[in-house]
Amino acid sequence: MNKWICKDLKFNWHPYTQMKDCENLPPVLIERAKGVKLYGSRGRFYYDTISSWWCNVHGHNHPKIKRAVKKQLDSMEHILFAGFTHKPAILLAEKLISIAPKGLTRVFFSDNGSTSVEVALKMSFQYWRITGKTNKTRFIALDHGYHGDTIGAMSVSGESLFNEAFSPMLFPSFKVPSPYCYRCPMGKDRSTCEINCVNPLEKLLKEKSKDCSAIIIEPLVLAAGGMIAYPVEYLSKVADLAGRYNVHLILDEVATGFGRTGKMFACQHLPEINPDFLCLSKGITGGYLPMGATLTTKGIYQAFYADYGKKKTFYHGHTYTANPVACSAALASINIFDEEKTLDKVKKIIPLFQGGLQRFKGLPLVGDTRGIGLIGAMELVKDKRTRKAFDFKDRIGLQVYIKGLKKNIILRPLGGVIYLFLPLCIKTDELEDVMDRAYSVIKSL
Ligand SMILES: *Cc1c(COP(=O)(O)O)cnc(C)c1O
Repeated sequence: MNKWICKDLKFNWHPYTQMKDCENLPPVLIERAKGVKLYGSRGRFYYDTISSWWCNVHGHNHPKIKRAVKKQLDSMEHILFAGFTHKPAILLAEKLISIAPKGLTRVFFSDNGSTSVEVALKMSFQYWRITGKTNKTRFIALDHGYHGDTIGAMSVSGESLFNEAFSPMLFPSFKVPSPYCYRCPMGKDRSTCEINCVNPLEKLLKEKSKDCSAIIIEPLVLAAGGMIAYPVEYLSKVADLAGRYNVHLILDEVATGFGRTGKMFACQHLPEINPDFLCLSKGITGGYLPMGATLTTKGIYQAFYADYGKKKTFYHGHTYTANPVACSAALASINIFDEEKTLDKVKKIIPLFQGGLQRFKGLPLVGDTRGIGLIGAMELVKDKRTRKAFDFKDRIGLQVYIKGLKKNIILRPLGGVIYLFLPLCIKTDELEDVMDRAYSVIKSL
């Protein structure tokens, strides 16, 4: 074993990793990265088919983002953000407001996706408290939803292998079925259904909305829950119900934000949507530095705006809030969308990608393919007719992962779901190469 890997395994504890697995499958040492590729020792490359955990946007080692980061470092690396401010944070907040859905007029910065969710949950909760509706304390969440690994974020995520061990630590939330068409909770078929899967939510709101603070949902793709791309009509109905029953709508675009679905934000596939909170992270800095942001409305902001003695202050913050270097990377990354016409370019690639996914449907283990934008997934099943899933002990995903690495692509599975989450900079020939490699991996199972 390489001496660096030995040292890694001596000192590091990797996320979501059974470290004993590393005896047979040690981590891959990466030396540098460029565009859609990572390079290991001796020049071996890997297509970054999952955008380095869904955060890389314009490709690795992008000259403009790199320049912005270096420039910022020459003047200031970090300062506190209470009582002080700086131009990168001012410009970034202004920029985020300008690209977000109308009505979102305030930005609260934090460090990562989970904290952007915690901020939304706490703001929603405190809003009802300070406006006299102290019963509104409960949150509504989706089965298969995922909002992060901190306690609050886990509490509003669907039950899964990942949070099972911690369930006694979590606060209870109302769970409603997710719009998982391949495994429809109502036993319907998408071609004839009327989005009946939203009915349980309506029933819950009828009975309990007086106790509910907010509903939290990932727009158009339940990402970590299995890349479950779902009909835009479902989101539209959820937004409508939240409004009618006076429950906040928290949109978690930590995964789907910044062009991944073909629009800047997934919720913008709807002609109009008025969320109370929008949670952002991952792609916000183009994948360069950690950062989270929670956007909210004038109405929410104004409720907290009062004389100090009224105890309406939002007492929440993180040490590295609005880090100037991260803000500069984010600004550069968002500006690239205009400068390089990123979404126009992506619009041409998307049909090739989504069309290419159809080919996988013919393979014996592929039960479902689904996707939107540059997100695509296939669900592997033991039996296509009965849709019987693999058992987690089968570790079918691990087999795919190992075969993928041999073919220079990263197919990090979500249980039995294999997905591609491509950087927006991917070119046609790279896409074709990636799809061919993925196909031969899945075919060989
Ligand atoms: C990844 C993710 C999070 C958590 O983000 P972290 O930065 O890992 O804490 C929250 N919500 C969604 C939708 C995510 O995909």
